[in-house]
Amino acid sequence: MDLLYTPEQQAFRAEVRAWMEAHVPKEPLPTLEGRVGFDAHVAWERTLASGNWGMVTWPEVYGGRGLDLIRWLIFEEEYYRAGAPLRANQNGIFLLGPTIMEFGTDEQKARFLTPMANGEVMWAQAWSEPNAGSDMAAIRSRAVREGDDYVISGQKTWSSRAAFADWGFGLFRTDPESKRHKGLSFILVPLDAPGVTIRPIRQLHGETGFAEIFFDEVRVPAANRIAGEGEGWNVAMATAGFERGLMLRSPARFQAAAKRLVELYREREADASPAAREAVVKAWAEAEAYALNTYKVASTVMAGGKIGAEASLNKIFWSELDRALHRTAMSLMGAAAELKAVGGRVNQWLEGYIFSLSGPIYAGSNEIQRNIVAERLLGLPRLGAG
Ligand SMILES: Cc1cc2nc3c(=O)[nH]c(=O)nc-3n(C[C@H](O)[C@H](O)[C@H](O)COP(=O)(O)OP(=O)(O)OC[C@H]3O[C@@H](n4cnc5c(N)ncnc54)[C@H](O)[C@@H]3O)c2cc1C
Repeated sequence: MDLLYTPEQQAFRAEVRAWMEAHVPKEPLPTLEGRVGFDAHVAWERTLASGNWGMVTWPEVYGGRGLDLIRWLIFEEEYYRAGAPLRANQNGIFLLGPTIMEFGTDEQKARFLTPMANGEVMWAQAWSEPNAGSDMAAIRSRAVREGDDYVISGQKTWSSRAAFADWGFGLFRTDPESKRHKGLSFILVPLDAPGVTIRPIRQLHGETGFAEIFFDEVRVPAANRIAGEGEGWNVAMATAGFERGLMLRSPARFQAAAKRLVELYREREADASPAAREAVVKAWAEAEAYALNTYKVASTVMAGGKIGAEASLNKIFWSELDRALHRTAMSLMGAAAELKAVGGRVNQWLEGYIFSLSGPIYAGSNEIQRNIVAERLLGLPRLGAG
């Protein structure tokens, strides 16, 4: 792996930087977990798309630029360097998009990818159910085949931004006799279809984007199924790999936060303890280490390799790093950390801190990721295997 950027990569960086400087909103947007903020973030998605920056790695025919992963990392670095808003459509572009690219038909690619890259359709992930979170193979929501349609009934929970999203991608039991991982199918459902009820779940910060989704005999065409009937588990595991592995949490997000943390430390150095100083240094070094490791992973993937169970290591690392970064910032800020706005601006540290608390839970809890690392990477025996 060559750690120096080529002249072409540097030119690309300059192009992204110039565009971001001209277009990124001057003030941080309100949180995307609330209606007003979500709409503002959707408007930003469309601005991005107008510059053809919706998803740079996708083929041009689907609204992308056909760029490689190194350029995607450069794009992300410039994106966060400019302080650009979080992506309202992250479930779509980072999770479902790559899944459709791998498993979808040409018709599905054309139908779903282009509106995603253009910021026209926002997506929610509808996997978790009551009693089927960590144990996702316990899914009970069902989809019954009737002619060319599926009729879906059941309940999903903990669905991020489902209260505002247009469509959801879910796992449903299509074989009523099936058990565990078998007999599940991966199906796309418009959230305004008759029979869908969305019930918001108020989060710690008071916002209501998070939701339960109820399906009462919701009819969708069988053409909305990704891959074969009963093959949903394999498809979902690939999606989970994207979620934990490379795409969802690019290092640039944490590097930008680490840089802001160093600035905060400099402002408050006089009152900071040696322990706070150490925590700042550690968080900064870990953000850099994560970036270097991601370049390594990107090079492996570009050379034809796969990520595999290492995605779980990745997920544990970024979620713990995010929590440490924000916890350190909160302690440096003292009592002001608890204010929603500081100096007339959104207190991004508070917002980020509250969100970072959920990092070890979503995308598969860290306890489960540690089990995966123990069993699949370290070869340790399965708990209770005797
Ligand atoms: C902010 C946030 C956003 C989310 N967004 C979405 C979304 O968009 N779509 C979606 O489908 N889901 C989403 N989720 C749900 C998330 O995936 C689940 O919360 C997670 O998988 C854990 O499932 P659970 O909540 O049912 O907890 P449980 O499965 O009930 O687990 C409870 C605790 O027990 C531990 N545990 C369970 N089994 C084991 C085991 N075998 N070994 C060791 N420990 C174990 C878990 O790690 C956890 O700490 C989100 C969650 C959060 C917090």
